[in-house]
Amino acid sequence: MRYGRCGACGGGEVYRGEYVAQSGLRATGAGKLGSKQPVFDAYVCAACGHTQLHVQLDAKMASHIRNKFDWIPPKKTL
Ligand SMILES: [Zn+2]
Repeated sequence: MRYGRCGACGGGEVYRGEYVAQSGLRATGAGKLGSKQPVFDAYVCAACGHTQLHVQLDAKMASHIRNKFDWIPPKKTL
């Protein structure tokens, strides 16, 4: 998506904007206090609506994610 090609439909009409998460980003099942309000770079396909979000990471957000979220270890085989 970042390079202008839609990952879902293969179209070439990808636009970039920003998405501000009003309700916050939190660990699964965490309460309201566990939420942070991140800003995402949003890549949206105008042909099919597929959207990809990239959180704008700073040191605080990265450590929030690493400390609070459920890590999914990479699988050796797909
Ligand atoms: Zn698309």
